[in-house]
Amino acid sequence: MDALPPAAQGDELVSTDPATGAVVGSVRVTTPAELDTMVERAWQAFHNSGWKTLLPHRRALILHAIADGLVAEKDSLATLQMRDNGKPLAECRAMVDSAIGTFRYYAGVCETIETDVTPRRGDYVSITVLEPFGVVACITPWNSPIMNDATKVAPALAAGNAVLLKPSEDSPLLAPELARIALKAGLPAGMLQVVQGRGAEIGAALVAHPGVRMVSFTGGTTTGRAIGRTCGDKLIPAALELGGKSPHVVFADADLDHAVAAVVAGIFGSAGQSCVAGSRLFIEAPIYDEVLKRVVDRAKTLRVAAPDASGVEMGPLASFHHRDRVIRFVDRARAEGGRILCGGAVPEGPDYAKGAYYLPTVIDGLPTDALTCQEEAFGPVLVALPFQDEADLIAQGNGTAFGLACGIWTESFKRAWRVGRALEAGSVWINTYKQSVTTTPFGGFKNSGIGREKGIDGLRLYAQVKSMYFGL
Ligand code: NAD
Repeated sequence: MDALPPAAQGDELVSTDPATGAVVGSVRVTTPAELDTMVERAWQAFHNSGWKTLLPHRRALILHAIADGLVAEKDSLATLQMRDNGKPLAECRAMVDSAIGTFRYYAGVCETIETDVTPRRGDYVSITVLEPFGVVACITPWNSPIMNDATKVAPALAAGNAVLLKPSEDSPLLAPELARIALKAGLPAGMLQVVQGRGAEIGAALVAHPGVRMVSFTGGTTTGRAIGRTCGDKLIPAALELGGKSPHVVFADADLDHAVAAVVAGIFGSAGQSCVAGSRLFIEAPIYDEVLKRVVDRAKTLRVAAPDASGVEMGPLASFHHRDRVIRFVDRARAEGGRILCGGAVPEGPDYAKGAYYLPTVIDGLPTDALTCQEEAFGPVLVALPFQDEADLIAQGNGTAFGLACGIWTESFKRAWRVGRALEAGSVWINTYKQSVTTTPFGGFKNSGIGREKGIDGLRLYAQVKSMYFGL
């Protein structure tokens, strides 16, 4: 699909509310000269602020203070994210909660992960320590800004690094709030700075900057590949969290009430703008018609409304140009011969006239190798496919370039185990979907990424290992 047009106007990024089209705020684009100054400032903070040598429990206190600052401003942050990217307010609140939990978790982890000792083996002992890289770049997408920012910034700081955080040009307003709260919480100046601007310009310059020693990126696969190439040339690590086309599988023995509810929430939650959206629905052939009808009936009754409306189940898409992209995706599905079972259009009526709304859409009748079944829509678009048996499911399920997540609904523990092991995915949800905890690693197989965020692995991404031997 086409690249998104930039949201930048001149040297400003203007954020508009996708529910109303109203301007929410603007930020100034970082110039290349300012980027040089910020990298220099980050190195000075890294070397001179005392952060990297701070006792872990003192570092943890500041990470907790950042969490406290997020708690104190939870409502205003959630509202700002809602207006910046159109997600329902309840989802935005949950994302601020996730960010709070992430800072608290890595406050705890940084106290406990520092050192491994291998006891005497002959006439020496060895000690393994984790050291920060120095200055790292964290680059985030627009779909869940505060949550994605925290998932990178908290472990990067916990590991002792100075961070240059670059949010998406389509949701630039949350990252400066996080930096302000962190400074107020006692994080030394220069340890967290925000770089603003278009990805292809300042984002690429940030990755290529000789002063940046590690890059952590969440976003699209094409961008991830470009960043990976630059990091390869620089011989620095790149952690890449990329796109998905996740299979959501319903076997004939499943608890269908729960399965149908999860399938609908799994794709239409966040209006499908979730990397782990269950965007390919695989239904075992004998129950295909029944399950598909139930999913379509429920999709038709979802309450699509303003993100702060009561009972809202799906808000607008995050921007008007992203909605155009989803419209083109569904147009192409039609051209490929897909049957649009519901949605496939912009909703009509005065409530929707000013916003970037799109109806929950279910498509079937396409072969598994159609582009609609292969490419990420990153919108409220579900494609349904029947499968005959486990072998057929695994061939189809693994038949995309992605491998981020999958869901399996069955009452058979053994089948869940077999299929869960066979599907190529970093996260497997069995009789549940889209659960995520800070303690459990998250990341993709194949084109969905390299590396694991969250958990202890999520901190190790931002640390290099040094092994020290002491002769006795
Ligand atoms: P994107 O790749 O267009 O942009 C992501 C970020 O990268 C933005 O900050 C952008 O400015 C920056 N960027 C763009 N080009 C760059 C370049 N050449 N060099 C450096 N930075 C650059 O993605 P998006 O449209 O913002 O987000 C949607 C994508 O993100 C989807 O594919 C979605 O699946 C993925 N995503 C993945 C996860 C995950 O954890 N795996 C989570 C959320 C979103």
